[in-house]
Amino acid sequence: MSSSVSVANEGGVAILTIDNPPVNALSFHVREPLTQALIALQEEASVVAIVIACAGRTFVAGADITEFGRPVQQPDLRAIVAALEAIAKPTVAAIHGTAFGGGLELVLGCHFRVADQGAKLGLPEVKLGLLPGGGGTVRLPRLVGAVKALRMIGSGTPIGADEAHGAGLVDAVFAGDLTTHAVNFAREMARKGGPFTPVRDRDEGLRETDLAAFDAEAADLAGKARGLEAPIACAQAVRNAVTLPFDEALAAERALFVKLVASDQSRAQRHLFFAEREAAKLPGNVVKRRIARVGVIGAGTMGGGIAMAFANGGFPVTLLETSQEALQRGLATVEKNYAVSVARRSLSEDAKRQRLGQFKGSIDHADLADCDLIVEAAFEDMAVKKEIFGKLDAVARPGAILATNTSYLDIDEIAASTSRRQDVLGLHFFSPANVMKLLEIVRAEKTAPDALATVVDLARRIGKVAVVVGVCHGFVGNRMLAARGSELEALLLEGAIPNRIDKAFIDFGWPMGPFQMGDLAGLDIGWRNRKARGLTAVIADTLCEQGRFGQKSGRGFYLYENGSRTPVPDPEVEALIRDKAAEKGIAPRTISADEIIERTLYPLVNEGAKILEEGIAARASDIDVVWVNGYGFPVGKGGPMFWAGLEGGARIVERLEYWHERTGKDVFKPAPLLKRMAETGSWETGSTAGIRG
Ligand code: NAD
Repeated sequence: MSSSVSVANEGGVAILTIDNPPVNALSFHVREPLTQALIALQEEASVVAIVIACAGRTFVAGADITEFGRPVQQPDLRAIVAALEAIAKPTVAAIHGTAFGGGLELVLGCHFRVADQGAKLGLPEVKLGLLPGGGGTVRLPRLVGAVKALRMIGSGTPIGADEAHGAGLVDAVFAGDLTTHAVNFAREMARKGGPFTPVRDRDEGLRETDLAAFDAEAADLAGKARGLEAPIACAQAVRNAVTLPFDEALAAERALFVKLVASDQSRAQRHLFFAEREAAKLPGNVVKRRIARVGVIGAGTMGGGIAMAFANGGFPVTLLETSQEALQRGLATVEKNYAVSVARRSLSEDAKRQRLGQFKGSIDHADLADCDLIVEAAFEDMAVKKEIFGKLDAVARPGAILATNTSYLDIDEIAASTSRRQDVLGLHFFSPANVMKLLEIVRAEKTAPDALATVVDLARRIGKVAVVVGVCHGFVGNRMLAARGSELEALLLEGAIPNRIDKAFIDFGWPMGPFQMGDLAGLDIGWRNRKARGLTAVIADTLCEQGRFGQKSGRGFYLYENGSRTPVPDPEVEALIRDKAAEKGIAPRTISADEIIERTLYPLVNEGAKILEEGIAARASDIDVVWVNGYGFPVGKGGPMFWAGLEGGARIVERLEYWHERTGKDVFKPAPLLKRMAETGSWETGSTAGIRG
């Protein structure tokens, strides 16, 4: 017997244990011996019942996703489930940890399921642009009903053992030694006697299906899918389980799976899955520094959110402000934000109290002396930051990590205001910092490897998706955002109204267009930045001069009536655009959605290529992680660099050259790396040095 699967006989009950660390994935070297063992046990006279259990910290947490996109070696999961369902003796799955994806489909092949009280069960395939392809969409509704199955499969969100028990997915929930309980349960079932009905022949979940209610739920899911095909395919597959005989529904599920697995969307989502894991890896194995208490400087928009992110992750936080008033204002906002979560029932009153209990306010830098990490989130002003870091140099304990949340400033210059440049780095959070997943970790010239490794690990502990980047104006995200937006004013003046441009973005799959985003963030921020840098934007500047700052003033590129957040196109803005165009002698013309994409998203990709060339990002996939998690780039397109591959590098280069010739603008000048990618189809930089040193 392979070491991945072992069999023990406990007084007539066979215990089949899968042992494939770290998460007992259903790889070929598990599937093969598992099938052999099931066939042997079926015939074995001394065995009256079979328990399937897992070694280690979890049940089977999924398929082996490295096998996706390759021909699957038999036996596949469906063959194992078929072998299970052919067994006349009672079969019991003993679930601890997580039974996800193929793991849950495996247990649906058993007659019974028992779970540890901490277990979680789910079918997360939709998050990879897929549906459960091992019979999950056809078997799960037979136990829990079509609507519940759709909610689980369509969202990919797992449920706990008690909920699974209530829904009919699990037959018993136990605390304590699960295998012993499962063996006793199996023996009891064998004693009661069969016949034991496999899930495929059960229908208690389907008997009273209200198809109209199901279709309403499916329509809701489709509405939220924003162009993603997988949720819609999931709904179709579950519906088939209700309307078609079992084997036909199973065949239809397979056909849908085969289509999805070969789709660009699923390839994009799988790319992102691996990209996020890859981004969090650092070469070498350095000893991390201990982080017990975190200091945050500035209790404004970002500081308050950053402090919440750490408190939510279980860290005590010292929050520093310049005055008692500013401190109290900041703390009151934090408290209000937690109260909103309580009102929405996403947080208990107890948890709120516990998290607020992590906060210590101060207006004295000396109180930061016991912090192991200090994150500065004061005004975006070099002089302010230098003064703060000078003070930190005097009060922080040796070895404390000193971080800045700056959006644009040169972190090497900030670091130089201390005598410990090895401890200084950037932690660029996104707003709202307690919600947004992305964290750009900026490695400065002298940042020590162990300081970097410590914050990469810390990011994971507070639930962030971390990407290590190098120092440049705006780092990866904001620098590329500027490139994306560089033609917006020109497009307006040439005849594309805000609504048309935003619609092209939404049709592409973005949650909102650039003008809606500007109105949401506040147009005054960009206006102030432009003034500080001696830049102008004729339309946006005029709107700000008129007091049109976006949603906060009820008017921006759009109108927002009576506090509504719904943008309404404003004829006054369109007239302003026409007037400014006329002043400049630009005759308006009709601008196609394709042109809008070419002049905004091709420069985005081009800037990404420059960032790679310069080693500001180590991998193209890191850039994708930044854009999907921080800026709403559609997941189904895999991020700008992955999408460039789908779009075709040659086409992008050709169109960039066309626009470069017409406008002479730098954003259109194709980066040498982009040209190389157009020839080879790969973003390989040929060097692994990059920012990782
Ligand atoms: P903010 O104006 O809302 O807050 C800044 C706070 O810092 C104020 O409460 C101020 O009283 C306090 N402060 C100023 N000087 C201080 C000092 N010497 N000691 C202690 N506190 C001090 O600004 P914000 O939007 O939170 O931005 C803070 C930083 O985060 C900036 O560097 C900004 O570029 C960056 N950032 C902002 C965003 C965003 O979306 N707002 C996103 C990412 C990064």
